[in-house]
Parts: sequence; C-alpha cells; structure tokens
Amino acid sequence: ALALTGCSSERGGDTGSDSGSEATGGFDAGATIGVALPDKTSENWVLAGQLFEDGLKDAGFKADVQYAPATNTVAEQQNQIQAMVTAGAKVIVIGAKDGKQLSTQVEAAHDAGAIVIAYDRLIENTEAVDYYVAFDNFKVGQLQGQALLEGLDSRADHDAPYNVELFSGSPDDANSAVFFNGAMDVLQPKIDDGTLVVSSGQVEIAQTATEGWKAENAQRRMDSLLTSSYGDKTLDGVLSPNDTLARAILTSAEQAGKPLPVVTGQDSEVESVKSILEGKQYSTINKDTALLVEQTIKMIQEAQEGKDVSVNDTEQYDNLVKIVPAYLLDPVIVTKENAAEAYKNVPSLLAIVEAAK
Ligand code: BGC
Repeated sequence: ALALTGCSSERGGDTGSDSGSEATGGFDAGATIGVALPDKTSENWVLAGQLFEDGLKDAGFKADVQYAPATNTVAEQQNQIQAMVTAGAKVIVIGAKDGKQLSTQVEAAHDAGAIVIAYDRLIENTEAVDYYVAFDNFKVGQLQGQALLEGLDSRADHDAPYNVELFSGSPDDANSAVFFNGAMDVLQPKIDDGTLVVSSGQVEIAQTATEGWKAENAQRRMDSLLTSSYGDKTLDGVLSPNDTLARAILTSAEQAGKPLPVVTGQDSEVESVKSILEGKQYSTINKDTALLVEQTIKMIQEAQEGKDVSVNDTEQYDNLVKIVPAYLLDPVIVTKENAAEAYKNVPSLLAIVEAAK
C-alpha cells in the first residue's frame, strides 16, 4: 500500500516494448505471462494450470505456470512471484495462497511495469492489484444457502425446524468470508424465524472455519459436533463451502452411523458429482474453470493490444485499500435434477451424468 504507482488502466509494462504505445499500455505479443497458483486444494486448481499452459501458448504468449507446494506454501509462492518479476513477465496472474501476504511481491511487479491480475481469490491490502477475475463469490454463497433450504424441504422426513451446522473455508482465503456472508444472507432470516436451528450455537465465521481448506479439518470438526450436539438429535443439513469438505462431512456422518444430512458444495469435483448422482451429497456449484481461464486470457490479450481491459464490476471487491475492478462470471447451482443441463458444456462431467442414467 506504500508505493502508489499510478492508475491501473494505464499500466502496461511499456518498458522496452515496441508494439503498443505508452498511453494505452500494450506489450510484446510473445511476452512471458506468469501464472502463480496456490496449493492444489481442489480440482479446479489442477485444471487451471493445464488450461493456462495451453491457452496462453495458443494465444502466442510464453507461459510460466507455477504451483505453490503444500509445505511452506506462502513463502514459496512469494518466491515464485518474485522470480516471475525478475524474469520480466508482463502480466502476473495470481491465485493467492494467502491474499494478505503478497503486497511486497505485487508491488515489485508493478514497479517493474507488470500488470497484476488476481485470479479467483482477491489480493488484499495493496494498491498494486489491477484486476480481479472470478466467479461471483457472494452469489456462490447465496446459491449454497438456497440449495440447503431446498434440500431440506425436499429430503427431510419431517417439517421445520431443521437442525443444521455451518462450515466455512480457510481464513487465509478472502473468498471464505464472501461465500459465508452470501450463504448467511439467505440462511440468517431462517435462523431468526426458527426454521433452522444451529444446535452447536456455532454461527460466527471464526467458529466455522476450516483451516487450509483441508478435508481432515472439516471431518474432525464434524466428528466432534456429532458427538457434542447430536447424541439424541438428528442433524438434517450442513452448509459446506466446497466439495472437498462436503465429502469429508458426509464421511464423518457415515462413520458415526448417522443418517446422511443434506450437504451443499462447490466446484463440481468428479467425486462429488458422482455422489450427487447417487443421492448422497445434495448440491454443488458449477464454476467452469475453462470459462474462467478463457476470460483471464482475454483480459491479458486486451492488455497486450493496449485496449481497455474488460471488467463488469467496479463496486464489490474492496481489497481494504481500493476497489479492484473485476470481471465476474455467473456460478450455477447443480443438483441431481439439473445435472445434465448444468453440465451440457462440460463434456467430462456430462459423460458422468450420462453414465449414471
Ligand atoms: C475457491 C473454491 C475452492 C477453494 C478451495 C476457493 O478460493 O474459490 O472454488 O473450493 O478455494 O480450493
């Protein structure tokens, strides 16, 4: 936040470039684009790496795609980004491990004339992030809340009140609070009017967090909630922020010999899509990684050509020092009922739906 290096729309890594003018940005067509992805906490991250490799090459760029390793993740990602800056990357796309710990590196990127795009997760506490590209995270949360209510309505063998528990994602990921707030936007009124009862009383985000988005942490918390709050009560539903955690929650209930609660998810991971088709996990969200990577590459091309980079939101993503101009894509809720329709443009998932028929 210390080095204020100018208006984002005019940044373009013009140093040494002979295609594209200073006023509009623009840089060499074959420039190196750095892509720094976090540890592989869900399938979407694994998919994104390959899609960036292929898509950037097809667009004529040199791709430098790096994942942060599972240990020493924050420091390793910081080093990877710094190395991309040193190597002269013109755009650095970052899926942050910890969006609050990258200001030094993204400010160095800016000082070197690179454009910084926060991918899927916001980078906070710095002026030096030019754009954000993601699925609409608040809407993801709202859809999860809505799915939980619909699932309870259609599956529970009794009327309201329903006993539910709430889970949220990793506290170092800026998305976690946005997902949770979106879900609570839908669920809080139902808690207030008595439709939903959170028996554990754990409704604050800090109480519901899942460190590192790790399945074992969600499973451990679910185990202990079942023991402490559901000895003689039935747990009807669980708000889960993603598929990895949803499966861990279902495993916990299964191992405890309890009836399976209605559980939400996100990401359309293969194992969860199968579980939904088998009638176990209730819902997921389709955030087609191919579309998100495609949109990111489109923004990079616009910057390369010195055009205005397209954004469709300039209000929602406050990174604590500025509103980051964003391009937000629309997430889609998926249940057993609409899976075929929802995945009609995702061949790998559509094949699973077809096979389950
Ligand atoms: C992503 C989710 C993902 C989670 C864990 C979040 O930042 O938006 O799609 O499930 O990270 O990897």
